[in-house]
Amino acid sequence: MSSSRLIVMKFGGTSVGDASRFRQCAAIVSKALKKDRVIVVVSAMAGVTDLIFRTIDAARHGDSENTESHLRTFETAHRRLISELLTGSAAADAECFLQQVFDHLRKSAHALLALRSDISAQTMDSLVALGERISSWVLAKHLEQSGIQSAFVRAEDAIVTDANFGNAAPEMETTRAKCQSALLPPTARGVVPVVGGYSGATPDGRITTLGRGGSDYSATIIGAASGADEVWIWTDVDGVLTADPRICPDATTLPQITFAEAIELAYYGAKVIHPRAAYPAADADIPVWIKNSFRPEAEGTRITRSVSPVASPVKSVTTVKQATLITLVTRRDVHPVELWGRLFLRLGQEQIEVLFATQSSPEHALGLVLRSEDAGRVLKLVRTIFRIELAQGVMQPVQVNNDVAVIAVLGEAMKGTCGILGRVFSSVARCEVSVIAVAQGASELSICFAVPAAAAAQIVRAVHDEFCANFGASIPVCLRPSTQALSGAQ
Ligand code: ADP
Ligand code: ASP
Ligand code: MG
Repeated sequence: MSSSRLIVMKFGGTSVGDASRFRQCAAIVSKALKKDRVIVVVSAMAGVTDLIFRTIDAARHGDSENTESHLRTFETAHRRLISELLTGSAAADAECFLQQVFDHLRKSAHALLALRSDISAQTMDSLVALGERISSWVLAKHLEQSGIQSAFVRAEDAIVTDANFGNAAPEMETTRAKCQSALLPPTARGVVPVVGGYSGATPDGRITTLGRGGSDYSATIIGAASGADEVWIWTDVDGVLTADPRICPDATTLPQITFAEAIELAYYGAKVIHPRAAYPAADADIPVWIKNSFRPEAEGTRITRSVSPVASPVKSVTTVKQATLITLVTRRDVHPVELWGRLFLRLGQEQIEVLFATQSSPEHALGLVLRSEDAGRVLKLVRTIFRIELAQGVMQPVQVNNDVAVIAVLGEAMKGTCGILGRVFSSVARCEVSVIAVAQGASELSICFAVPAAAAAQIVRAVHDEFCANFGASIPVCLRPSTQALSGAQ
């Protein structure tokens, strides 16, 4: 049995959206078990994590009406799931388990309502992880009822993290020891361990979460720690596409991409994989498949270290729809590098990600393009760090443009291919949209630019039409002379 391959399968929120989706998960696991050993990682039912966040938010603002309404929605959705999916003692056990979880959420929400207090990041993590706690418990029960031996494993018994609540990082050594003792022995007996995604715990047992969308990350952490042969991420699209299909209905599935491309794509808004999920798999050299649980027969996208060359240098066009541009301008008679250095140090300490930065006019203006959710914190930092410079007029008042979107054009093959920038900006110009800021990474893996937010979808479609409309077809590319010499291309 243990000579068979070990596959970690992660089912995302829509793949466990209701009772029929849970049945589909069981069918997928059952098929895989004919050949392979399987560990399952599962997200909360679609919308549930958002609902917990909204419940807590309403409670801490003293909004009892919305708190109660969100709590009712949470309870009703899970009771319906249990009644439609489980029967007999399994249903009774599940009702009991749900009641415990729900009581915990309700009591915490009521305490917040009464105190109107803020909530610590640690308590927040223990609550927002509850959606996965229920879905994984119910899926384990459902697999059992479907004749598949399975075992519910608490996420904190598999993944050990640092204490960076809300955005924790795994401690791989201890995680490896936990996964090997909690997950591998059952698989060797033909039992499927089922673990809730998104969370883990500090070495002293405090629940943490891995950032929104973190169940993908859980899957690759568990894959690397258990020595899995492959990780399969089941979602609601056929794989990684040339663009978000909600924006470009004609986007096509990429058969293969590299880990580096997956990281870049996710960082610049392709929700299909968590931005950090590729790292554990890349480190352990474990292929990751993105597959559609609604169409399991579709091949999916394979993510590995290297892939065969494709005709189009651009593989995908992504967007971060809500971004903010903060512009800082100093007087011309100061040397601003020291000022920018202080700022970037603090951004690093606060773990704030800059989507891209531009520096122009011999260093006197710095443009920072950020996710809008981080803009408030960055503005506060800027006004604190540069209090004196702003007061003395060494730095001009901070300029803020909250109305931008970032478009990223991605593909490893762009490196060494000339003419890409020209084609990108010609397609933007045809939309009569002006570009606000531009950056091309030194890796040449991506070109990023900011445009007015309202134009984002139109620009994604225009750039996608330019490069990816016939993704499979051969598109002539022109290589730079230096690259030609290296590759011997004509
Ligand atoms: P899950 O709940 O399974 O984790 P997500 O909603 O997190 O699924 O991610 C899947 C979604 O990612 C898709 O429904 C799609 O709209 C979106 N998406 C954005 N960009 C891309 C892309 N380039 N390729 C595929 N999906 C994308
Ligand atoms: N449920 C969590 C979220 O919505 C994690 C995940 O689904 O990946 O962010
Ligand atoms: Mg996701």
